[in-house]
Amino acid sequence: MAEVAEPSDGSRPLRLTALTKEFSAFTAVDSLDLEVPQGSFFALLGPSGCGKTTTLRMVAGLETPTSGTIHLGDRDITYDKPYRRPVNTVFQNYALFPHLDISRNVAFGLQRRGVKDVKQQVADMLDLVELSSQAHKKPAQMSGGQQQRVALARALINKPDVLLLDEPLGALDLKLRRGMQIELKRIQTEVGLTFVHVTHDQEEAMTMADTIAVMNHGVIEQMGSPADLYENPRTTFVANFLGQSNLIEGEIKGREGDRVVVDVQGALASVPGDRSHAESGRGWLGIRPEKVLIAETGERLDAPGEVITGGHVTDVSFVGVSTQYMVRMPWGQTLMVFEQNTGARRMLAVGTKVDVSWRPEHAFLLDASQDAHAGIEEG
Ligand code: ATP
Repeated sequence: MAEVAEPSDGSRPLRLTALTKEFSAFTAVDSLDLEVPQGSFFALLGPSGCGKTTTLRMVAGLETPTSGTIHLGDRDITYDKPYRRPVNTVFQNYALFPHLDISRNVAFGLQRRGVKDVKQQVADMLDLVELSSQAHKKPAQMSGGQQQRVALARALINKPDVLLLDEPLGALDLKLRRGMQIELKRIQTEVGLTFVHVTHDQEEAMTMADTIAVMNHGVIEQMGSPADLYENPRTTFVANFLGQSNLIEGEIKGREGDRVVVDVQGALASVPGDRSHAESGRGWLGIRPEKVLIAETGERLDAPGEVITGGHVTDVSFVGVSTQYMVRMPWGQTLMVFEQNTGARRMLAVGTKVDVSWRPEHAFLLDASQDAHAGIEEG
């Protein structure tokens, strides 16, 4: 584990510039530019093999970049030894010392740097991760979630400028993972350090991070807040990897004021200008399944926006909070429609003829040269 060379001065963004890593002829990280504001909870999210761990390892100093730079504030740390960087890493497998009890595990970094009186700092850290009563247990006597909290305390006690978390919750079962997500967010808010979290789990990234960078094939596809990325994806990969999307092919007619008009299979639909990422030619009109309203043909739609007629239900899944419909449209495409189970109306049966509708402000528009299926399998 890396040690901290100097204390945090609390005002230094982590900046990656044209950062590249090649393994023989394979480019794992491709000229990455990224700025992580000091104090943020930042997630690098992407499918397996997209280059996130390699990026993290370069920041930690465990991998040497082929080219590009890594700065913390004004300091160039690209080629600094791992232990000279104000950076610590928490790994998925905890990497605790099995023969030391919890308080000695947590004290380890300080003691190695020659800090004499560590008692209070260790007590504060154990308090932070809510393990004060377990201080004398050995790692093997603790659950996975508790061990991960020890690993966190052991890294945080060094007061790094940046804490790197490499799939830290990957070894925990689903229920524990959800609890730890909330816990990690609380701890990050409390200590105010920069957390850079690598994960392939979109829900995990969305739950914890203020900013997410979606990575694919060594490059960043889009960066923003979880809500920005979900509501206004700029690529088909982001639209499909973060949640699910209906992408309907259409012909872009052009701008009208602050909207872009699209001919969607014979019906005119409009998309807000700031959610339109294509201006002419063919485009994918995107709409999230929970934003699509559905009604039996002839029935009034609750809040009609763009209405498309002539669908029929081909599949119904009741999943408790919602009912998920598959609706076959006249042009042969199947749309997903998720309806909240408010109890306001009956469930529609397979075979029912339906109309679908959505509010124009919920749609987004992408360039049709992109693969409509990008990100689906990975997601
Ligand atoms: P995962 O979530 O599966 O860990 P990842 O997004 O973190 O994936 P990386 O571990 O960064 O991906 O790997 C990116 C690519 O670089 C992969 O195709 C991987 O096979 C390749 N790679 C990583 N390390 C090496 C290495 N030491 N030698 C050769 N290729 C490597």
